Amino acid sequence: MKPVIALVGRPNVGKSTLFNRLTRSRDALVANLPGLTRDRHYGEGRLGERPYLVVDTGGFEPVVKEGIVHQMARQTQQAIDEADVVVFIVDARQGMTPQDSLIADHLRKTGRPLSLVVNKAEGMKHSAVVADFYELGLGEPCAISSAHGEGVRDMIEHALELA
Ligand code: GDP
Ligand code: MG
Repeated sequence: MKPVIALVGRPNVGKSTLFNRLTRSRDALVANLPGLTRDRHYGEGRLGERPYLVVDTGGFEPVVKEGIVHQMARQTQQAIDEADVVVFIVDARQGMTPQDSLIADHLRKTGRPLSLVVNKAEGMKHSAVVADFYELGLGEPCAISSAHGEGVRDMIEHALELA
């Protein structure tokens, strides 16, 4: 069985960009518009000989209960339920947000193995990038740049160790 890795986080943190890099596809819709990936989206990635499935999700906004955003949250929940590992992605440029804390609380409750990943970290000092996110209580984050491919291999290696 191929391990399933779900990419979860607020809209616009770079989930689809990471998905595309991991699956080397252009399938996931990447855009500046937050929340464009409205459904789960599967692709296959490979670390050396080891294949895995990766699931892109729409933005996760647990406080919104109605309409399309709720729908996205439900799709994301389904992706979490079927994942072996959840990669929780946050944005180094924006830093910690209240939404990140809410999502972290929710993910902790699911009991799924979690990997915290700080994206958009290119050109930033590692210590500065990770310090901000320690208070999430999810351990040492992996700093990556999905756009530039930096840190992505180490990050996926770590995620697969949890699977
Ligand atoms: P999603 O909503 O979480 O799927 O985010 P997207 O993958 O659609 O990306 C949102 C925006 O962030 C796009 O403009 C991307 O080009 C940009 N982005 C994604 N990854 C990186 C990165 O590593 N560094 C920077 N600077 N921008 C990124
Ligand atoms: Mg997306």
